[in-house]
Amino acid sequence: KRRNQPSAKELIAGILAQDKVALSRAITLVESTNLDHLVKANEIINGCLPHANKSIRIGITGVPGVGKSTFIEAFGKHLTSMGKKVAVLAVDPSSSISHGSILGDKTRMEELVKDENAFIRPSASGDTLGGVARKTRETIILCEAAGFDTIIIETVGVGQSETAVHSMVDFFLLLKISGAGDELQGIKRGIMEMADTIVINKADGDNIAKAKLAKTEFNRSLHLFPAKNSGWIPKVTTCSAFEKTGIDNVWKIISEYLELVKSNNYFDEKRQNQNQFWMMETINEQLKNHFHQFPSMEELLKNKSLAVQQGKISPFKAANDLLDFYFKSKP
Ligand code: GDP
Repeated sequence: KRRNQPSAKELIAGILAQDKVALSRAITLVESTNLDHLVKANEIINGCLPHANKSIRIGITGVPGVGKSTFIEAFGKHLTSMGKKVAVLAVDPSSSISHGSILGDKTRMEELVKDENAFIRPSASGDTLGGVARKTRETIILCEAAGFDTIIIETVGVGQSETAVHSMVDFFLLLKISGAGDELQGIKRGIMEMADTIVINKADGDNIAKAKLAKTEFNRSLHLFPAKNSGWIPKVTTCSAFEKTGIDNVWKIISEYLELVKSNNYFDEKRQNQNQFWMMETINEQLKNHFHQFPSMEELLKNKSLAVQQGKISPFKAANDLLDFYFKSKP
C-alpha cells in the first residue's frame, strides 16, 4: 500500500482550495475501474456537490479538421482574459478502441495549457460511451467545485457522443466550415437540430465570402426546424479561430442565450431533467456491468450466442434463460 495517497477528505479540501493537482487526482479516481477508487471517488463527488452547479456548461462538436482544438484555444483564452476560469473536457469513446483519440492531443492547445485559469483534461477511456460519459459528468462536478465557472466539453461530430454531451451541457455549439456539404462534414440532421448556435470557422482569407454565404444558407435551413423548448432561436455566426476574429461574438451569443433561459426558467428545468436522465443512465449502466461481470456469465453468454446463431434457440428464449440465471442465482 502506498503511503502518500491523499484521503478523500484531503482531496475535497484541495479541490475546494482550487488546487489543480488535487483536482487531477480526484478525476483519476473517477476514471478508475478499481472498486476502492470508485468508493473514494463517490465520497469526493458527494463532498463537492454542494459547491458545484455554479457554472455554465458548453458543448462543442464538429468533425475532425473543422478546427475544434484551435477554436477552443482561442475561445478559452478569450474567456480567461475576461476573468473566467475555464475547464476543457472531452468525450471521445473512440480513444479506448483505437488507443489514440480522434479528438487528438490536447497539448495542441499550447497557450491554454499554460494558462493558470484553465484546466484541460483529455477524454476518459472506457469500453462504452455510457461509461465515458458518466465519468465526464462526474468530472464536471469536480471542476465546478474547484472554481471553474465555464466548462467546455468537446466531442467529435460523427457518432452518438454528441447526444451524450448534449445531455450534460447548457448550450450546444456546432462548429462547421463552409464549402463542404453536410454529407461531407458527416453532420446528421439531428445534430443540427441540437445546436444552439452554428459557428462557421475558418472565415479568413479567401474563405470569408464563402463563409458569409454559408451563414445565410444555415440560417435559412435552421428556420425549417421546429421551435426549441427554450424559446431560443439558434444563431449562425462566422469566425476564424486562427486569426482570432469573431470569437467575442460567439461569447455574446452564449450570453444572450443565458439571459433568456435564466429568465424563463428553462436553464434550471433543463438541468433538472439532465439530472434525472443521468440517474437512470447510471442505473442502466451499472445493472449491465453487474450482469456481465456475474460469475460464469461470459461463458454462458457465449454459448447462448452460438445457439442463437445456429438457430437452435430464439434470441428471446436465450435472453430469458440468461436473465433467469442471473436473477435466480443472485445471493
Ligand atoms: P480539430 O480536428 O477539429 O480539432 O481541428 P484542429 O483545431 O486540429 O484544426 C485542423 C486544421 O485546421 C489545423 O491545420 C488548423 O491549423 C486549421 N485551422 C483551424 N482553425 C482555422 C481557422 O480559423 N482558419 C484556418 N485557415 N485554418 C484553421
